[in-house]
Amino acid sequence: MGVFERITGDGYEQVVYCSDDQSGLKAIIAIHSTAMGPALGGTRFYPYDNEEEAIIDVLRLSKGMTYKAAAAGLDLGGGKAVIIGDPKRDKSEELLRAYGRFVETLGGRYITAADVGTTLEDMDTARRETRWVTGCSHTYGGSGDPSPVTAYGVLQGIKACSLDVFGDASLKNRTVALQGVGKVGHALCGYLVEEGAKVTIADIDVDNLARAVADFGVETTVLADIHKMDVDIFAPCALGGGINDETINEFNCKIIAGAANNQLARPEHGDKLRDLGILYAPDFVINAGGLINVEDELRGYDRERAMQKVLGIYKAMQLIFGLAKERGISTSQAANEYAEDRIRKISRIRLVRTAEYGPSSSN
Ligand code: NAD
Repeated sequence: MGVFERITGDGYEQVVYCSDDQSGLKAIIAIHSTAMGPALGGTRFYPYDNEEEAIIDVLRLSKGMTYKAAAAGLDLGGGKAVIIGDPKRDKSEELLRAYGRFVETLGGRYITAADVGTTLEDMDTARRETRWVTGCSHTYGGSGDPSPVTAYGVLQGIKACSLDVFGDASLKNRTVALQGVGKVGHALCGYLVEEGAKVTIADIDVDNLARAVADFGVETTVLADIHKMDVDIFAPCALGGGINDETINEFNCKIIAGAANNQLARPEHGDKLRDLGILYAPDFVINAGGLINVEDELRGYDRERAMQKVLGIYKAMQLIFGLAKERGISTSQAANEYAEDRIRKISRIRLVRTAEYGPSSSN
């Protein structure tokens, strides 16, 4: 299928192929939408088997960013970039700077950040060639690693779920099965323990597992059992696709709320969770803390202000749960409709404003 065929009809604005022979850079930048503001989204550095896989991924991820920004109430559009290659083998200063120069050519229509396979330090390197980078280190006026802020947002989402299901937002003595104690999961584990929750964890990485046990004194279980545990809350903080045909009937929790992206293997799994009486916290709403954090960099980073904005995830979840009940739909569908509604309304205002006063400075 050609690129035009893929992007037409789904709102995509632009796809840019970037190639630099000298450094070996092969990247694709996808701008899904700038209707709400500049398209912000991370750069994934990944050894895709072929170009087809890379284009599918970048298109899917960039559209997801539009929805995430909209649901978080940010004046941002959605974009994403992929660099094709093995970050361990192919990453170099030369390549990252070549990539930065391509980002610069887009004049701020696309703003990048770190993602799978890229780091804070990589963003600092790209920043030497372009202004349009967020998630840089503190020394460069950046906001640093967003993961603890993402975790703080997930905590707010879990509290909103708890209020909805148990009539009490307090997590004291609530049981939580936490899958994945990496950057976000570790910080979340700390927050949960602080709130008085009883946490059990599992991770394929034994070092990460041991670190969480040492830091927080939590229990562990085997990988295969974590999502089946009889608990109040299952918090997936590892990889996406964990709610699938195989696992859907194995959950023994009242709430699924975690940081992982793309948790539902297919949209129908959201409906199925509703039928099972499990409250699902839509991933792109509950894990928006990191995006909210890097967005704040565009105004001159202020940690306090960013954390205040992250508290808004609690309210956003409540709005979505209300919408789902009112319309008799799943929370995942309600989240999509909530985001689409905001995109429609705000982009209309921006169009009128642009016609009257010229393009806004943020776009
Ligand atoms: P990470 O790589 O630091 O942590 C992931 C952890 O999950 C690792 O400890 C890893 O060993 C573990 N893991 C992998 N496969 C597993 C499995 N099958 N079972 C149990 N554990 C497994 O990543 P992260 O930054 O903490 O992100 C976690 C998730 O949250 C990802 O899906 C990511 O896309 C999403 N997310 C992260 C952020 C952020 O700010 N870092 C923001 C939004 C969404």
